[in-house]
Amino acid sequence: MIRRIGKILAALALTAASTVIGVTATAGAAHADGCYTWGRTLSEGMSGEDVRQLQIRVSGYPGYASRIALDGAFGPATRSAVIRFQQAYGLAADGVAGPNTFNQLYALQDDDCTPVNFSYAEWNRCNSDWSGGAVSASTAKFNALVSMWKLQAMRRALGSVPLYISSGFRSYACNSAVGGAAGSRHLYGDGVDLTGSPTLCRMAQQARYHGFTNILGPGYPGHNDHTHLGNSASQSWSAPNCGI
Ligand code: ZN
Repeated sequence: MIRRIGKILAALALTAASTVIGVTATAGAAHADGCYTWGRTLSEGMSGEDVRQLQIRVSGYPGYASRIALDGAFGPATRSAVIRFQQAYGLAADGVAGPNTFNQLYALQDDDCTPVNFSYAEWNRCNSDWSGGAVSASTAKFNALVSMWKLQAMRRALGSVPLYISSGFRSYACNSAVGGAAGSRHLYGDGVDLTGSPTLCRMAQQARYHGFTNILGPGYPGHNDHTHLGNSASQSWSAPNCGI
């Protein structure tokens, strides 16, 4: 999907550059996406960068209290995630990522590879070059991207309601300024605070199904006005007022 004129121009340039290749390889099914274009159908047992790109985009469909590895190896967990993604969008749920699955992913991503309903700009109001956190700038930005895809899945599950981000990536300076926790996931890029609709508890509860291992919400100190989601190494959920 395209939001800005600049993106449209960039997409047209990329389309023009790759149309010949696409038509030659898959007549009638050519697609040139501004972010990433898959060139083969993917199924269990395969591996490669194209699998990893798929895993990033279905990382919000790991099942309850789980997450999938972004390792480029298409195993049973990736297959299950693809099936859940296909079910979420009414596609034939066979666990094989072919043209229909890829077309749905193309429709869901902007040319900078973020999912259509989230952006780097809203995720980072701290430090536009993503530096100064607990990891490198590129890692922080990548972690943010993966969290956005998880949120896109959660958004869909909640009925495609808007989700409002009050804080995403923070440098140490930004984290100190807002009184963030010392080891906050915001320093790593994957932490995000949500406010507003549908409800803080609804979001905390639903996040358990979309690959978030760090969930803090109402009842947890300092979290009565937002729900925090992130991706810590081990599971840490606490939102006592929500039954979590
Ligand atoms: Zn937070």
